[in-house]
Amino acid sequence: MTTHREPLQSVLDTIGETPLVRVQASADELPVYAKLESFNPGASVKDRIGAYIVRGLLSTGELQPGGTVVEPTAGNTGIGMALAATQYDVDAVFVVPEAFSVEKQTLMRALGADVVNTPTADGMTGAIERARELATEREGAVVPQQFSTPLNVRAHEATTAPEIYDALDGAVGAIVAGCGTTGTLMGLARYALDREPRTHVVAVEPEGSLFSTAHGDDVEEGEYHIEGIGTHDLSTNELFEPELVDEIRQISDRAAQTELKRLAREEGHLVASSAGAASVAALEIAERALEDELELPYDSVVTIFPDSSERYLSKAIYGSYEEWTHERT
Ligand code: PMP
Repeated sequence: MTTHREPLQSVLDTIGETPLVRVQASADELPVYAKLESFNPGASVKDRIGAYIVRGLLSTGELQPGGTVVEPTAGNTGIGMALAATQYDVDAVFVVPEAFSVEKQTLMRALGADVVNTPTADGMTGAIERARELATEREGAVVPQQFSTPLNVRAHEATTAPEIYDALDGAVGAIVAGCGTTGTLMGLARYALDREPRTHVVAVEPEGSLFSTAHGDDVEEGEYHIEGIGTHDLSTNELFEPELVDEIRQISDRAAQTELKRLAREEGHLVASSAGAASVAALEIAERALEDELELPYDSVVTIFPDSSERYLSKAIYGSYEEWTHERT
């Protein structure tokens, strides 16, 4: 792993070893720490899995040099995988529901990838189906499928988790993370529960998303504007293991946006809506533990800030709630 103190040969060598920073709104007695994943070269947590998956598929021979990865993605995974593709002899095609941020699609194209849009109404399920179709039409093409490949979970178990545990000398009381593919949370949870089975594991989703139904909660399905987390069809989230999760917290669009603005104004973090949601949930967990409503093995809560707000400026992320939510649809 890099210390960023020696010359490196490839942009891929700069992935990981991101900073862990205290959320200053948390109490000194029970701090919340956020891992700032926008420090990766493609500016999101997904650089980790992009490189890990491409390398993994090349090493097993599922992907051959000269081949193509065809991936359904909300965008960040595309950027991570496109970065990796530039360093190996691999082409990249991404299938992106059209409502997702144009900045992400511009960056994927800049990295040499092809981008195919699917109708917003078909959601990620529509993008997954289209990716499979495209792969059958093209020789040497594989669909890594971040929603089902165990390499997604393993990337976090092998890199994100040990970095966190090293930084805190293993004293992690709770893990709180937003769930899209759930690769981040499942990788962290596996590592955490192996070391300390009492670690409190919290999944975060937008209000309107359906992860909570996996715990039998009667939640209402609806649209949400938080980008990168949530599901409308749990059968696509094949990596999700609800039994590793102690609770699933729903966060409203409004609460997430209020928090991401607060994080910028008060703490200097230029982070996006999934980070806002994660921060709200993590601060709540810390508060409950402080009030003895929740018992944690250590007095700390760790969360992930997956990407940067700069990627969503065209969506009026720092505008009023109405401006932000109207931009999205
Ligand atoms: N936040 C953002 C901005 C994302 O792009 C993603 C990935 N879709 C996540 C959070 C969730 O990460 P994961 O897919 O590992 O659950």
